[in-house]
Amino acid sequence: MRLWNFSAGPAALPAEVLEQVQDEMLDWQGAGCGVMEMSHRGKEFTSIAQRAEADLRELMGIPANYKVLFLQGGATQQFAQVPLNLLAGVKDKQPADYIVTGSWSKKAFKETLRVCGETAARCIASTEDKAAVADGFTRLPASAELQVNADAAYLHLCTNETIHGVELLDEAAFLASVPAGVPVVADMSSHILSRPMDVSRYGLIYAGAQKNIGPSGLTLVIVREDLLGKAPASLPTVLDYAVMAENDSMLNTPPTFAIYVAGLVFQWLKRIGGINEMARINAEKARLLYAAIDGSDGFYRNPVDPACRSQMNVPFTLRDAALDAEFLAGAKEAGLLALKGHKSVGGMRASIYNAMPLDGVRALVAYMDAFAKSRA
Ligand code: PMP
Repeated sequence: MRLWNFSAGPAALPAEVLEQVQDEMLDWQGAGCGVMEMSHRGKEFTSIAQRAEADLRELMGIPANYKVLFLQGGATQQFAQVPLNLLAGVKDKQPADYIVTGSWSKKAFKETLRVCGETAARCIASTEDKAAVADGFTRLPASAELQVNADAAYLHLCTNETIHGVELLDEAAFLASVPAGVPVVADMSSHILSRPMDVSRYGLIYAGAQKNIGPSGLTLVIVREDLLGKAPASLPTVLDYAVMAENDSMLNTPPTFAIYVAGLVFQWLKRIGGINEMARINAEKARLLYAAIDGSDGFYRNPVDPACRSQMNVPFTLRDAALDAEFLAGAKEAGLLALKGHKSVGGMRASIYNAMPLDGVRALVAYMDAFAKSRA
């Protein structure tokens, strides 16, 4: 039996997508074999990959001067692959600027120093504040705190911090303070496709697939063409964006099954009405859940600045942490899965990605209300 699954990732996929996968598992549309078993260079898989890209371009409004790459290695590989491609081969290079707003952007910054050297990147703003709350990150930097260097090789940020539940909601206002000419690189792993985003404002977007896109094993990169071809000659071929772009992401065998399922997720998104409709539903889900937390008289608490509360990942604590285990056990019984918070911040976390229906959030809110009343 499928329960309401609040996992942060790999996360729930739309049931109708999984049903279609099940139907096509042994024989994909008369091919005589399943997608996992066919050549990535054959006409069947080529058509699957091309349709997936076309649907993604349509959904996100990706301009023609951007390449879409279907890669592997996860978003973690991008922490290194981004600087190795955009920074390492550039003569007289300026450092890249990094904004640190949670665990993931902090990892991206550290990895850049590791692979490109201690002077390759500057952290220009960090919202880590261990004194304020135990888990440190609860907001985005205010525009006054944000001084992006006009000569920065690029600006890196994570637009949704999955662990801390901090999301860049007003991208236009935030990016207005980035000097023209500085490409913005964004880790959108945990909120890509959740609402409209202006791809043309970014130089490069990357995302691990296992939240809003499809199965793990696939990493999406959307890169503006003028940023390609800057990698040093010594870069391993498989890590070179330009080579991957020239080869339609098929320099070597791509994660075919994950690309196929991602393509079905894109078709599902189009069927339900595209990104605008998805955004409307996501906003309603987030509104319901934060209202339940804020209306609980302090029984539940979310520490994040309301201006940047994530609509995808909602961390919350119980006033009395001694009740955590009981809360989780009761949740499981009520059909609510994977609500335990990340080990670094504790408490609970409800990830309410695209595939989580409104009814799932209603069930969670009803359980939270009942639990709080029974312990008041
Ligand atoms: N960035 C963000 C925002 C994430 O949420 C995650 C994974 N949860 C990662 C990077 C790392 O992704 P991966 O496990 O695909 O390397």
